[in-house]
Amino acid sequence: MDHAENPLPANDLAATMPPPDDSGGWRWQLKHAVRTPDEFIRRLPQGISMPDAWRDAASRFPMLATPYYMSLIREWAETDPIFRQIAPHPAEIDPDWNGDPDALDEERQSPVPRLIHRYPNRAVLLVTDACAVRCRHCLRKRRWHFGEATISKHELDAATQYLRHTPDINEVLVSGGDPLTLETPQLQHLLTTLKSVPNVRVLRIGTRIPAVLPQRITNELCDMLQRFDGLWCATHFNHPHELTPEAVAACRRMLAAGVPMVNQTVLLRGVNDSVDTLRELCLRLLESGVKPYYLFHGDPIDGTRHFRTGLRPALDIARELARTLSGLAMPQLALDLPGGQGKVVLNPATTTEPTPEIPIQFVGLDGYPVLYPDQ
Ligand SMILES: *Cc1c(COP(=O)(O)O)cnc(C)c1O
Repeated sequence: MDHAENPLPANDLAATMPPPDDSGGWRWQLKHAVRTPDEFIRRLPQGISMPDAWRDAASRFPMLATPYYMSLIREWAETDPIFRQIAPHPAEIDPDWNGDPDALDEERQSPVPRLIHRYPNRAVLLVTDACAVRCRHCLRKRRWHFGEATISKHELDAATQYLRHTPDINEVLVSGGDPLTLETPQLQHLLTTLKSVPNVRVLRIGTRIPAVLPQRITNELCDMLQRFDGLWCATHFNHPHELTPEAVAACRRMLAAGVPMVNQTVLLRGVNDSVDTLRELCLRLLESGVKPYYLFHGDPIDGTRHFRTGLRPALDIARELARTLSGLAMPQLALDLPGGQGKVVLNPATTTEPTPEIPIQFVGLDGYPVLYPDQ
């Protein structure tokens, strides 16, 4: 490991950053994002090394993190919640742990490229494959090898036409990748095009940007978003360490632009599978004007299974959380059924505890019982 090339003390990354303003702070972050194991290793403090299998995992699932997000690492080890969400892990390529690359059958439920239509009234449009940070628990790891392509004109035309011909769809989730990695005019064009479909009444941007690149929430972006009625933002904070003053300020700018904010947390083993951590996260979100919406049990996606807690710990955590959080602060514990059978909300007060003999059973969108792969 050669430290001479990069004399930057690892925990001092924040000092190297330009001020967050409209003049390119967020582009600076993306330009200087860490994209290879070597770049990451160069940032590690002296004396810390990574196992070889770590490199193998990174060659299968490439890494990506903004300097800002990396500056939130407090301890350069798997025990740090930020580190664990961005550092490749040998378990990602362990053949005994492999899962389904597309456990939710999103590809099968895509009537046209980049559009996922599972529920009668709402659809997801994957407007870009680019992200500011590649989360190791990503549900769309299967698409990482596509690189950073943005929806083409042809794909957008096809998606818009499908939406027009499916009048039951009244809400479109604008997702990816991360839609807020797009340039503001590009995003404006996309939102305008989607909103021009008469039956599309609500748009919901799904983004991790407030947590991983808050500099992107510029006044220019907010001025643009402000023009849209029925626009919501579903963001993705997993740990209180992510709710920095910059991140909270970014949420407040979105709210000030009239964009209501909800949060989706993924329950992640070794990151946030603790009642105290989640309670603090939910309270801080609520303080910041962001409603905790979902707490997801991890999907059995290939390369992410080491993050799954299992249903019983998830229910125990949710039961305990619900005892000490208000209804506003409490997210719904939910999971996505395999085979594209949709989300199920778990109510710990009314859900039976699974036993070795009788697992919890769920009824999917088709009305049939669906067995859930609980580990
Ligand atoms: C989660 C999801 C939605 C949105 O579901 P809500 O319960 O409305 O948040 C829509 N489509 C797909 C494919 C989803 O996975």
